[in-house]
Amino acid sequence: MSETEVAHVVVLGSGQDAGAPQFGGPPVEITRTASSLLVTSPSGTSYLFDASPDIRTQSERNTFDPHRLGGVFLTHAHMGHYLGLAHFGNEAAATASVRCFGTASMHAFLTRNEPWRALFTRRHLEFGVLVPGVDVPFDESLTITAHLVPHRPDFTDTVGYVVTNRKTQGSMLYLPDIDAWDQWPDARRIVDSTTLAFLDASFSSGAELPGREIADFPHPLVSDTIAQFDTSPGQIVLTHINHSNPLGTVGADATDMAARAGFLIAADGDRYEF
Ligand SMILES: [Zn+2]
Ligand SMILES: [Zn+2]
Repeated sequence: MSETEVAHVVVLGSGQDAGAPQFGGPPVEITRTASSLLVTSPSGTSYLFDASPDIRTQSERNTFDPHRLGGVFLTHAHMGHYLGLAHFGNEAAATASVRCFGTASMHAFLTRNEPWRALFTRRHLEFGVLVPGVDVPFDESLTITAHLVPHRPDFTDTVGYVVTNRKTQGSMLYLPDIDAWDQWPDARRIVDSTTLAFLDASFSSGAELPGREIADFPHPLVSDTIAQFDTSPGQIVLTHINHSNPLGTVGADATDMAARAGFLIAADGDRYEF
């Protein structure tokens, strides 16, 4: 891969929706902002995957310009994944017609509910509806495809995104939230076809949320994800890590389990290329 052909990825945030530590929550060993990626094409155009509530901190740490984004791709309407859109509006960046993409259900949710609706009527953002499973070319080298995945449909459906670099034939999957791998028939086909897969690693154990039923927040455990993709040819990167999850902490069972499987654990500011 030549440097002029590769696409670059920055992990803007590696935490579950509320980050770590959480508002009102206990201290944590590893600080994480909410899940988000910035992908920059070989020609230098950057694309944001999810607009997290920590977008202000994330743009300051990683110097990306909201006015020059080639697109904002939203996975779904749980708080960690779209509240950052507010910072494109009048009180903040006040962007002009930045393109924003998601499913028809995401479009309906945002354009029917204030304050999100005003971002579109005032043309800070322009929405492009993506049809799941359909490849869409962006600039001269990237192709982006949304894939529907099973995840609590509170306000919208949920997608993961595959980004393919047509110059290197490398590809990346961003899939921060899914209820269970066995509810997604395309899991192996899609994960195994990508060179870099950022996958939901919210929890390591069902005992992480004292006083709350983890069954109310279904996610595969890290051990489920390892069992599912242990033999996948690409690099798996575990992300969307809940504040209660010791994954990444030195000496934690989950950290050792991931290392033995050859999986990487995302941290804010990590960089990859494909
Ligand atoms: Zn989430
Ligand atoms: Zn979610």
